[in-house]
Amino acid sequence: MRIAVFPGSFDPFTIGHADIVRRGLQLFDRIVVAVGFNAQKTAADERHAASVDERVAAIARIYKDEPRVKVVSYSCLTVDLAAQEGAHFLLRGVRSVKDFEYERDLAAVNAEIPPAFPAEDAGLETVLLIADPRYAHISSSVVRELQAYGRDVTSYLP
Ligand code: ADP
Repeated sequence: MRIAVFPGSFDPFTIGHADIVRRGLQLFDRIVVAVGFNAQKTAADERHAASVDERVAAIARIYKDEPRVKVVSYSCLTVDLAAQEGAHFLLRGVRSVKDFEYERDLAAVNAEIPPAFPAEDAGLETVLLIADPRYAHISSSVVRELQAYGRDVTSYLP
């Protein structure tokens, strides 16, 4: 069974994220969408944020008829969550060179740090999908900003 964790802040979960899940389901038997807390995001970023539980509930509603997608929240390292879920893969999306450099460093760290508790085989493989050009400009932060000014963002949300 090929299980991938798709970790992110998903604040909110956009049509860009949904496209990564859709394409990921062609590669993996199961995808665990894991809503986490990003330590690099500041309090200002979080100002308009939905709570983690609200995000999990909203994403779970989108996939209520897709048994191959599970939605969880987590507050540990992604490698530990992956070990817990029996996942050997991390799924991520790449929109730009900036994303690429960030993802490359994350992938290297996630490949070399062992999980806190012994898993069968350590070393997570990261699979990066290139963003569809139709969605590559969409980011959760831009959607949050538009929402904060009362704009309609439904076309960015699945
Ligand atoms: P994080 O805070 O971990 O970067 P995000 O929720 O912003 O979490 O993003 C989760 C993953 O989805 C990241 O790999 C990001 O590059 C990817 N992603 C975000 N927006 C898009 C998009 N529009 N198209 C494809 N991938 C995307």
